Amino acid sequence: MILVVLENQRGNIHAFSQEAVAAGQQLSTKLGLDLCILCLGENASALKEQASNYKVKNLILAQNDLIGSYSADGYSKALDQVISELSPKYVLMGHSYMVRDFLPRVSAKSDVPFISDIISVTYHDNVPIFARQVFNAKIATNVQADSNNNTILLSFQSAAFSSDDIEAGSPENQIDFSLNLDTSDIRSESEPEFQESASSVDLTTAELIVSVGRGIDSQDNLPMIEALASAMGAEIASSRPVVDMGWLPPYRQVGSSGQVVSPKLYLSVGISGAIQHVVGMKGSKNIMAINKDEEAPIFEIADYAVIGDLMEIVPKLTEEIQKNK
Ligand SMILES: Cc1cc2nc3c(=O)[nH]c(=O)nc-3n(C[C@H](O)[C@H](O)[C@H](O)COP(=O)(O)OP(=O)(O)OC[C@H]3O[C@@H](n4cnc5c(N)ncnc54)[C@H](O)[C@@H]3O)c2cc1C
Repeated sequence: MILVVLENQRGNIHAFSQEAVAAGQQLSTKLGLDLCILCLGENASALKEQASNYKVKNLILAQNDLIGSYSADGYSKALDQVISELSPKYVLMGHSYMVRDFLPRVSAKSDVPFISDIISVTYHDNVPIFARQVFNAKIATNVQADSNNNTILLSFQSAAFSSDDIEAGSPENQIDFSLNLDTSDIRSESEPEFQESASSVDLTTAELIVSVGRGIDSQDNLPMIEALASAMGAEIASSRPVVDMGWLPPYRQVGSSGQVVSPKLYLSVGISGAIQHVVGMKGSKNIMAINKDEEAPIFEIADYAVIGDLMEIVPKLTEEIQKNK
């Protein structure tokens, strides 16, 4: 059995969990294993409702007052119980902040391997091989789980799979899973989630992003970028130097030490395309890059290349968009 665990994102199924469902459906088809979805903890009933139009074998609800809000202790204990009872071959989640926090504990508690931050899956003789990046995303490595393991935990990097590929349907069975938790199990309390504590901006779900790099040269040129983003109805993101120089706050940073985004359009302005930036935005559906250097690495992954001076191009682009609104 393959078990996808859904994560709550303000009452909705987290975007990364939707991608994990797509991954789960692919694994289930390739390996001939049943696919089950687990709605656990915070807003579990709402998640179950939303998951009821996915094609899965079993839709499982595991609720308990003690995990009505997230805690690493509570969630790891609860998932540990589900794994012990159901013995899934694979447990899948999106590689979110919450997953980074609690899934390693499940791995340690249940003594099961955890292959984290997977970027793609290939199959060799019906055995899945998971690719993940190492050495600060400079190289990718293939990992194959030892078939002697009863359960393997997997987490997927944002945009490794697309929620557009989810196969709709309805669950064959709906199951309530009874958790056995005690107040003494919960010894920690979580702080508010990362993005909310920083701001209400959630780049991971933004459909349009204008991302600015060191090429804008000065903080004084930011209003020009803000005008473009506003004309497009887009969120502003940036490369790391822009954050390091204090021109934009850290939650706007995209890349290996920032956020991983997958908008419909990522418009990169004055960004060179260093690997540490690219790992955070390469899953975007369309990439347009403005850069005066035609050799800039960003053009290797761009769908649309605009070679020229951003100081000239950006105001004209903004004006054209405003005219055609
Ligand atoms: C451990 C580690 C983690 C890192 N994490 C991240 C991360 O999460 N995110 C991240 O972004 N970086 C990260 N970096 C930094 C990364 O290596 C690059 O240094 C950074 O991405 C470069 O940012 P940039 O493209 O804005 O700047 P530059 O590399 O300086 O590129 C500026 C670009 O602007 C163009 N340009 C200049 N003027 C104009 C103009 N007038 N018109 C048009 N184009 C122009 C130039 O041709 C150039 O290509 C990390 C580095 C390390 C070591």
